[in-house]
Amino acid sequence: MAYVITEPCIDVKDGDCTAACPVDCIYEGGRTFYIHPDECINCGLCLSICPVDAIVWDQEIPADQRHFIAVNKEFFGNEVTGLGSPGGWSKECSTELDHPFVAAFEKTAAIA
Ligand code: SF4
Ligand code: SF4
Repeated sequence: MAYVITEPCIDVKDGDCTAACPVDCIYEGGRTFYIHPDECINCGLCLSICPVDAIVWDQEIPADQRHFIAVNKEFFGNEVTGLGSPGGWSKECSTELDHPFVAAFEKTAAIA
């Protein structure tokens, strides 16, 4: 179980949640942040901070966002960044890379 960053963070990415995380398991990519599923301790402290409600618990994730469980996990694998489990974000983890789903994602224009 872990918390997951979903679609609304893409291109918003203000980083507010990173200040709340006691274990620094929220990592920055090019267009969004990603939560490390093995490092997240499920404390929920990041949840209410997100201005666009992008953070959800994987046990309560809406069906149309379920693919973000894999997106967050795969960001750390060899197919994307190869970061593995660094044990917490540090400058050495900085990357402009994104999971292919996020890299290709096109935001639809907001309905006025
Ligand atoms: S639930 Fe807690 S440990 Fe997990 S990403 Fe949020 S603040 Fe970090
Ligand atoms: S607070 Fe929300 S919008 Fe900001 S970086 Fe975290 S998940 Fe993304």
